[in-house]
This record gives sequence, C-alpha cells and structure tokens, in this order.
Amino acid sequence: MESIYYERARDLRHALQLGRQPGARYIAGGTNLLDLMKGGVERPMRLVDIGRAGLDQIFEQPDGTMRLGATVRNSDTANHALIRERYPLLTRALLSGASPQLRNMATTGGNLLQRTRCPYFTDTAFDKCNKRMPGSGCAAREGYNRIHAILGASDACIAVNPSDMSVALAALEAVVLVAGGDAGADNPRRVPIADFHRLPGATPQQDTALRPGELIVAVELPAPRHDRHHYLKVRDRASYAFALVSVAVLLRMEGRVVRQARVALGGVAHKPWRVPEAEAMLQGVPPSDEVSRQAAARMLAGANGYRDNQFKIELAQRAIVRAVREAAESAESAGGTA
Ligand code: SF4
Repeated sequence: MESIYYERARDLRHALQLGRQPGARYIAGGTNLLDLMKGGVERPMRLVDIGRAGLDQIFEQPDGTMRLGATVRNSDTANHALIRERYPLLTRALLSGASPQLRNMATTGGNLLQRTRCPYFTDTAFDKCNKRMPGSGCAAREGYNRIHAILGASDACIAVNPSDMSVALAALEAVVLVAGGDAGADNPRRVPIADFHRLPGATPQQDTALRPGELIVAVELPAPRHDRHHYLKVRDRASYAFALVSVAVLLRMEGRVVRQARVALGGVAHKPWRVPEAEAMLQGVPPSDEVSRQAAARMLAGANGYRDNQFKIELAQRAIVRAVREAAESAESAGGTA
C-alpha cells in the first residue's frame, strides 16, 4: 500500500506553500483526481486540500465582471441568482454535465482541469498512451476512437477535452486567474480561456497552460454582452454522458440582425474550438440556416475523422445550425443588454 500525505490549506498563501512540496497535487472536490488515483493513473505523494482556502465565493466586481472562485461547486454556480440571470449559457452548460451528485462536489477549477476520458488513458491495462506515458504511442489512433477529436489532433494524441463548462466559458471569453509560480499570491496571472487549454502537439501530457506551482484561484466572466444564447449537447444518452459534440452560442441582436456572434464547439478537440472567421459570417445579417451552414462549414474546415468518429464532422455542422437557430429564437436574456 502506498502512503499519501494529506494536508488542508488555511488560505491561498498556505496552499501555494504546501503545493511547492515535491509530489504535491491540489485537491478540492476530487471527482476526477480520486478516480484517476484509484485506477493508478495519478500517483501523487501529497494531497493539498484547498476546499477551505477561501476560494469559494461568487461576486460581481466594480467593473461589472463576475468572479467565480476556484472552489465554488458547479451546482452552486449553476444555481446562483446572478449567474442564472446574466450568464444563462453557463448555467445550461453546467446542468448538462455529469450528475447532480457530481455537480454538488465538482468545482470551478477542477472542472477546467479534468482530464480526458479516452479509455486508453484512464485504463492502465493499456500500454500505449502518450498522455499517460509520454513516448509510448497512441492506442486510440488505430483502436476505438468514437469519442475522439476531429480537429486540432496530432500524431501523438487525438483525445478531446470533456468539460461542458469550458465550452460555455470559451464562448463567454472568460479569463482564468492563476496564482503561484512567478505570479505569487497577490498578483494572479490572467490567462484568456482560449489560451488556457492546449492542443496536444508533441506533448499531450500537458493539458493546460498552467506552469509548475500554479493554482487556479478564480474565473472572471466579462460583463454580459449578448442577449440570446443556446447550449446544445449531443450525447449517447440523455444524462450522465460526455458530449459527442456540444455547441455554445451567444448572439447580440439588433432587431432581426445579428451584431455579434460567439460559437464554441466541444467534444471535437483537445480544447474548446472557436473560429472567429466563422463567427464573423453570422454577423451583420439576419440569422438563417443557410448562413449558419456556411459558418458551420468554415468551423469544421480541416476536420479529420478516424475509423469510428467520421460521423462527428457532419454531426457538428448540423449541431451548429440548430444551436444558432435555437439561440436566435430564444427569449432575450435578462442580463444581455449591458
Ligand atoms: Fe492517450 Fe491521447 Fe492516444 Fe488517448 S488519444 S490513447 S489519451 S495519447
């Protein structure tokens, strides 16, 4: 049996101090890390519990941005009055993920850092996985790859990011605040969500832009700029399933014309996928399926399927068309007029 040291951080400074110890990993809800530890995928020597480090608040800042603490539970975020009113896209994405029990434990930071559900990564019986054992190969490329990437993959890894929350945050253009490392505790580094998750390239073992010793302290949401939204998740069963494809859409309408569009795709790449040129195609015109089809084709340009997941290329385009239509026809969001 392996011994693990468990320590509880009093505050952020204490957390960063404890996190500098060799073999330390931060833990909050533990919904992903503990599963990976049970399976032998993760083997931390020390667990630093940040659940009582004072990172559990949601509040509006003087400039109108909203701050979500790193350890706020996903269910608390989804049901917070200001989030429901101003960021209903985020509420909808969160409630489409996992189960109520898991959402009651999972946290903001943990959701962003959850690891891929590629079965060759989560099962140590397989001896080829570059993400788990760099240099060993990628079993998914020639094996079962129904849930895998169609965009942004590399020879080394074709895994996808499983987070629904991250897809909504990508459309919202959130900023991830990280402390530790050079940033220290008082001056968090600001990482736009678009730069937070990485494409796999030759180093798929590194999921994010977090540097050694850094810890997510919060996520900042810009003041709401859109008045229509929709989150569409296509999956194999109605609940407790990861997305085959998901689409987060935000629109700002003036009369019947779309003035600003944000579209993020999930379930298709190692990170939420946005294509600004495709979003621009939706702007300056009334919403229509024809325009959405052209924008969807632009979003999927360069897509490449494997043995079992070719269907995702067409599925993603149809999902985009439907999600934009649903957003355009949705009731105006209360917070979207800022
Ligand atoms: Fe491992 Fe990535 Fe290949 Fe899955 S897709 S087996 S996570 S290297």
